[in-house]
Amino acid sequence: MEGKYANIIVDISHEKVDRPFQYKIPERLKGKIEPGTCVQVPFGVGNKPLKGYVIEVTDNAEYDTNKLKEINKIEEGVVGAEANAIKLAWWMKTTYGSTMIQSLKTVLPVKKEIRQLEKRTLKRLADREVILFEKNEAVRKKQVAKARVLSELLEAEELPYELVTGKLNISSSTIQSLERQGLVKVERQSFYRNPVKAVDTQEEKKMLSRKQQEITDAVLSDYDNKNTGTYLLHGITGSGKTEVYMEMIEGMMQRKKASIVLIPEIALTYQTLMRFYRRFGDRVSVMNSTLSNGEKFDQFERAKKGEIDVIIGPRSALFTPFKEIGLIIIDEEHENSYKSETMPKYHARETAVEIARMHGASVVLGSATPSLEAYYRAKQGEYKLFTLKERLTGGTLPAVYTVDLREELKQGNRSIFSVKLKELMEDRLAKKQQIMLFLNRRGYAGFVSCRACGLVLKCPHCDVSLSEHWGGKLVCHYCGYEQSAVTKCPDCGSKYILGFKAGTEQVEEQVRKVFPDAKVLRMDADTTKKKESYERILSAFANKEADILVGTQMIVKGHDFPNVTLVGILAADLSLSANDYRAGERTFQLLTQAAGRAGRGEQPGEVVIQTYQPEHYSIVHASEQNYEAFYEAEMCYRDLLSYPPAAHLMAVQIMAKDEKKGERLAEHLSKKMKEEYKTKALELRLSIIGPAKAGIGKINDIYRYVFYVKCKNYVYLTEIKDKLEEEIFTLQLKNEMVQFDFDPMNTF
Ligand code: ADP
Ligand code: ZN
Ligand code: ZN
Repeated sequence: MEGKYANIIVDISHEKVDRPFQYKIPERLKGKIEPGTCVQVPFGVGNKPLKGYVIEVTDNAEYDTNKLKEINKIEEGVVGAEANAIKLAWWMKTTYGSTMIQSLKTVLPVKKEIRQLEKRTLKRLADREVILFEKNEAVRKKQVAKARVLSELLEAEELPYELVTGKLNISSSTIQSLERQGLVKVERQSFYRNPVKAVDTQEEKKMLSRKQQEITDAVLSDYDNKNTGTYLLHGITGSGKTEVYMEMIEGMMQRKKASIVLIPEIALTYQTLMRFYRRFGDRVSVMNSTLSNGEKFDQFERAKKGEIDVIIGPRSALFTPFKEIGLIIIDEEHENSYKSETMPKYHARETAVEIARMHGASVVLGSATPSLEAYYRAKQGEYKLFTLKERLTGGTLPAVYTVDLREELKQGNRSIFSVKLKELMEDRLAKKQQIMLFLNRRGYAGFVSCRACGLVLKCPHCDVSLSEHWGGKLVCHYCGYEQSAVTKCPDCGSKYILGFKAGTEQVEEQVRKVFPDAKVLRMDADTTKKKESYERILSAFANKEADILVGTQMIVKGHDFPNVTLVGILAADLSLSANDYRAGERTFQLLTQAAGRAGRGEQPGEVVIQTYQPEHYSIVHASEQNYEAFYEAEMCYRDLLSYPPAAHLMAVQIMAKDEKKGERLAEHLSKKMKEEYKTKALELRLSIIGPAKAGIGKINDIYRYVFYVKCKNYVYLTEIKDKLEEEIFTLQLKNEMVQFDFDPMNTF
């Protein structure tokens, strides 16, 4: 763009981003200035020359043009992390639709707020033999927590305190008693230190299989030949993907290049982290949501200074300001959490590809059940595809039984357990093996309705039904509204107003009823609200403190439980009924992951899938563990209806305080675009659908509308987005807001 004015940030830090200053671009510099360019500008009353960064070039003057000062000059040779961050923010703004400020805030590291004063480390004092002896003692006395921390101390002589108390779930009183015994000491340091000092960093390194070596070599030699690209590594859990990642990272370290590893927060387990620490010692750093802003800033500073080569973290770790990135890895690339829910609604996969392009880096995506997007692109030749077929740790694929719940009902079985599942559960309980029961539905999804008039109790602020919780409390899962149970229908006065229960709480209740002697743990959004309780439940289950674990999607990710030999999927169709084009894909992924939980250890596993639609392709192919067949069937459907990845989809989301105004705005914007593209639509194969009330028509008293634009070519979607942004700008909206979501993961 050859704009007349440039918006410039003089002090580039997270909080100051809100205050850009506008300058005139002098004639001689026109066309030479773009977002990211470092310039010198006169600043303040004294016109002191300061360095600043251009964040936006525009033709719209925001102030009286006579009062605008001119840019002095371009600062040559400045290509810092800042310039890159601004370029990336600009790309995000144009690709996903947001303001430049929103994008910058996503991309720029947060400024340090709290200075980290103290870093605590748990240090091994006694010899390994003593620790080993004490560990065996602890095992004998069934002191589970003590045994756990001692066995970690056999591997590493120092452990970060937060890791021990957090992910390892060791209480401070256990640590104090270890201190009293003289086995460990808690060291406090006043400066930042590396999280782990490994005993022997070489210890973890495995001799790669031929296939693993082939993949690693291919990626690294492409890199050396400047033939970088995006690779999709399709391999079931346990097929050695992580080992391949580590080998590639090491290759990049030898080339003096940094690597970014994205892992979904939920899979960022202690075991995985320790593997990276042991392999790379103090060259690796971890970012997770438990870090404070100050700690995050520290991590970014260390990356900038070149003190670390590898960062592991969720989506936002992408923005680590390494000088030279060689490799970006996205593990479990199909996970929903890689898409941002706030503006800009970016996808980590595409953003990683863009960052890699800027750095001449490679991107490696890994998954056991690749997203349709990634697999489609691999088939199109846009990504290179590698496949790892075998599980390296042994263990065969589980046997899967599909049970038709309609048949069960016909036989008079009204319980949530089919005959087959109940039989297998009894068998496992007798054998002292563990069981996982999976309900692919969030939380406790019971709603309350009147059996007389059909009224469903809804949240007064949101267009969703209230859920009944223990003790009869009624809760809104969207805004947190709570009220006590009702005894009478507020509409017709009938007293037959009852809860329809079909959540994890109810499953737990049923398990206790049918198997009174079994020990049960439950994990869902309600039981894991408290920080770290997620890890606590999982480690309790891993320590065999329970026979049965009941839960939602949370239980199918991360952790390995070698003693689990039976997985029951209670109602496989629950996630299918979601009114969403990704429902089939999500169901397949969940079922495949859940099934993969059985038989990780010595004993073979079995899986029971209970369903009302045993003929549905997602369920059929998941029970066969056949990704390829699922992909073909699902792609057929997407092709037919022009859904991503067959085409691109833009959701234009309208939120308004006033119902009528929201509706009118949605009408106005969609109509304008329909008129504008009336003649071109056919040729561009572009269609505009809607507007309609959103799936959830109201949240927190804000009314929601949506319309969709579908097109094979992404460029036309961004063109429409730009036009809408202009229109929105001229409308000067106050009580309405418009957001864009490209290739959305969820319905709005
Ligand atoms: P994934 O990331 O695909 O789940 P991992 O890399 O975690 O797979 O490997 C699964 C298990 O197999 C791990 O315990 C790992 O240490 C082991 N493993 C991986 N590669 C090898 C290898 N080449 N030789 C021996 N063991 C290996
Ligand atoms: Zn009623
Ligand atoms: Zn609500």
